[in-house]
Amino acid sequence: MNRPVRVMKFGGTSVGDASSIARAAQIVAQASREASLVVVVSAMRGVTNRLVAAATCAEAGDREEGAKLAGELRNQHEVALKSLIQAQERRTSVTSRLNEVLAEAQRLCEGTALLRELTPRSLDSISSLGERLSAPLVAGVLTELGVPAEPIDATELIVTDSHHGGAEPLRDKTRARSESRLRPLLQEGIVPVVTGFIGATPEGVLTTLGRGGSDYSATILGAALGADEVIIWTDVDGVLTADPRLVTDARTIPEISYREAAELAYFGAKVLHPKTLRAVMEAGIPVWIRNSFAPERSGTKITPQGPANGGGVKALTAMSDAALISVGGPGIVGVPDVVGRTFSTTAAVRANVLLISQSSSQNDICFIVSSADARRTVEALREEFSQDLAHHNVEHITLDPKIAIVAVVGENMRGIPGVAGRTFSALGRDNVNIIAIAQGSSESNISFVVDRDSMESALMAAHREFNLGAARAGSE
Ligand code: ADP
Ligand code: ASP
Ligand code: MG
Repeated sequence: MNRPVRVMKFGGTSVGDASSIARAAQIVAQASREASLVVVVSAMRGVTNRLVAAATCAEAGDREEGAKLAGELRNQHEVALKSLIQAQERRTSVTSRLNEVLAEAQRLCEGTALLRELTPRSLDSISSLGERLSAPLVAGVLTELGVPAEPIDATELIVTDSHHGGAEPLRDKTRARSESRLRPLLQEGIVPVVTGFIGATPEGVLTTLGRGGSDYSATILGAALGADEVIIWTDVDGVLTADPRLVTDARTIPEISYREAAELAYFGAKVLHPKTLRAVMEAGIPVWIRNSFAPERSGTKITPQGPANGGGVKALTAMSDAALISVGGPGIVGVPDVVGRTFSTTAAVRANVLLISQSSSQNDICFIVSSADARRTVEALREEFSQDLAHHNVEHITLDPKIAIVAVVGENMRGIPGVAGRTFSALGRDNVNIIAIAQGSSESNISFVVDRDSMESALMAAHREFNLGAARAGSE
């Protein structure tokens, strides 16, 4: 019997408490009747943030925080466990697994506090603990429902490079491990419940894929197994025309292309980790985004091509944790290779450059980096151009942390005249000042920089201009 293989990922809110876990387990139980499933789980909502905060406290020498957090996490997981698992033996076995992970949490935090040093490697170990707690719990709940399940640590499956905090999977090794570990379980009708977010180097050192990385775990495993579909269960109805927290009449998009979805994710649409689609591009595996709180709704299907008549503006996104860096002054025209040096410097400090825009007067090179990279980048640039600054060839290297990038995304927008003009007129009418503009090399986004305080007005103006809202379903 050749059943389809589906990878289903449940995000933090979808396993956030006992009732959400029960709902997720029902979804799995039902889907397991017609397909072989691999489940990928995030940590329970808020757990990873708290682990990272505890790690930072420990780094500052706080020796209590680890024990305090372990106590809180025990409580949170046990409340769910007691409400969802009645069989005594099963309870005991899940509890002992939770205890092992909690003891490790305490040890890691104590070690960090003692040394007052938090290396990227130990931060990965600490922040991975949430998934290592949620996976055994969810597997226990599934088994209780009559769906045989086994918790699996993704360190056994996803082999990565050693870039802690943002590791990249090594494809062939991951495929080999996933095949040999997961396929036999699928053949036996057992649902593997895999920890999202985590991998390990070939030597077995734990790594993480970056915050929000469980989406990526799901597509990595989907590609490794040649799955038929990947389904990402979250707390909204799918990919919407804008973040519903910022634009109230945002609408669910039934189908969107890989490229558009990737562009949205890259510019901050949190619903998908930016790297998610990379893993499935080659194989063309469809990815669904669905609401675990409303499984009767069909969600968004992300496909290689998108819908047949899919040109034009699809959605908007915004990103506020970014900063604008400007290197400039009238003298920069005479500075040799100023552009080259600027960007080799950003590359050397591994800054994530999100957008580049050269001002029309050519006196300024402006670019945007993630907030986390901003200070480091400016310091490196001041060092690189120290001579030029001393001789006033470069007059300033400045940082504006209070900006936001808003991106208008849609396939083949260049073929549709006036998208940029319409966007900017709409923003102008609402008095939103545009600081910089970039129409990326890709034809599927136009992005612009605004003051952070204007971000919401900019989104609403553009959303209205392109009729993206619920009331007048987009025809642009
Ligand atoms: P999970 O914990 O399931 O991974 P996330 O919080 O990471 O969920 O992502 C879902 C959130 O993404 C939504 O609650 C929503 O606020 C936000 N979001 C931002 N942009 C969009 C968009 N265009 N469509 C849908 N959700 C979006
Ligand atoms: N738990 C991790 C985080 O909060 C990964 C994820 O949820 O995707 O970043
Ligand atoms: Mg997420």
